[in-house]
Amino acid sequence: MQHNSRAAQSSITDSIIRSEQQVLMSTYARPPMVISHGKGVYLYDLEGRRYLDFVAGIAVNALGYGDPGVRRALDEQADRLWHCSNLYYTEPQVRLAEDLVRFTFADRVFFCNSGAEAIEGAIKCARRWANQVKGEENGEIIAFNNSFHGRTMGALSATGQPKFWEGFGPMVPGFCFAEYNDLSSVQALHNEKTCAILVEPVQGESGIHPASPEFLTGLRRLCSANRCLLIFDEIQCGLGRCGAFCAHERYGVTPDILTLAKPLAAGLPLGALLTRGEAGETFAVGSHGTTFGGGPLTTHVARYMIKRLREPGFLQGVNERGAHLRRGLEALARDFEEIVDVRGLGLMAGIDLTLDTKKIISHCCERGLLVCRAGENTIRFLPPLIVTNEEIDTALKLFREALDKERA
Ligand SMILES: *Cc1c(COP(=O)(O)O)cnc(C)c1O
Repeated sequence: MQHNSRAAQSSITDSIIRSEQQVLMSTYARPPMVISHGKGVYLYDLEGRRYLDFVAGIAVNALGYGDPGVRRALDEQADRLWHCSNLYYTEPQVRLAEDLVRFTFADRVFFCNSGAEAIEGAIKCARRWANQVKGEENGEIIAFNNSFHGRTMGALSATGQPKFWEGFGPMVPGFCFAEYNDLSSVQALHNEKTCAILVEPVQGESGIHPASPEFLTGLRRLCSANRCLLIFDEIQCGLGRCGAFCAHERYGVTPDILTLAKPLAAGLPLGALLTRGEAGETFAVGSHGTTFGGGPLTTHVARYMIKRLREPGFLQGVNERGAHLRRGLEALARDFEEIVDVRGLGLMAGIDLTLDTKKIISHCCERGLLVCRAGENTIRFLPPLIVTNEEIDTALKLFREALDKERA
């Protein structure tokens, strides 16, 4: 693996970075390279440097880059139609919904464009259901500290991290926050006004924290006993990432509402809201909608993505390679006392470090490995689901070098 020297950076890279700083709003802190293309589990920058990608577009590019099947699905649908709005029926949207209903707990689906929009849909669905069956004043939702549900006002208000709220008040009312993996804290908040509990089966952005089985089972029991909807946000942990089609299958706990997005259309923007029973009957004509959501191009590609996930051995492979990654990270943790915890499920892993995670990410990048943070002290590993054990070994080797460098 080459060392990615920054010494001889071309003027085009520098000029793009300079322009970005002038014309884009400064919402992202990016490393000083410009990505030009990708192949398999690798990204390449304009300087021709290669990066082993353990970010995968933040758990989006589950099939890596340049997958020929994704490309074929794109071409097929691009030849026919890519947008005509939800005023009209299109076949790919209906077929994808059929697939999702066939392969999950759900009996109805609503499509949108992103994770945050799926969460907005879930909140609206739960509130409207509550309006219909429990009365308007009973639309409160219990969410969790350190959760992440997105950046739009509703999703942000459901996100239990006050640092994301700063400067954007007032938040949407009707949310309260319990402690993750602490059922008694939920029981303490729950009352007759509660209509739903919103939870990530594995908390992603705040540091890859899997729920305990007792916690999810307890939430299910609490919701069923009190006529409350259980909403799982599987935007990051769902669709194969945790080694099952949906992460909650690993827990044997079924929600009433589920949100999906990130990898759903293998890199194209598509989100979905899945429901079972009453919850899915609450929306009527005109009560919710979207211009782009569930268009024929994204849904046709998503059908291919679902087909790949369902291929024999695919999910088992995720589990096996997830275990390989886990063993490698645990071996690293034995050699580096600065690694204080290793967590994860399937190919969704996080380690807590006492070292400066920003600097380690930058050392990784210089060595040709992309990883990202989750919270302040956690580094996340979210490789494409097609990653091989050899590629995992390469990533672990580069990561070890980065740790050595930071420690030196
Ligand atoms: C990324 C993410 C979201 C928000 O998705 P966007 O597509 O960025 O709006 C919501 N919930 C979880 C768990 C996520 O990881």
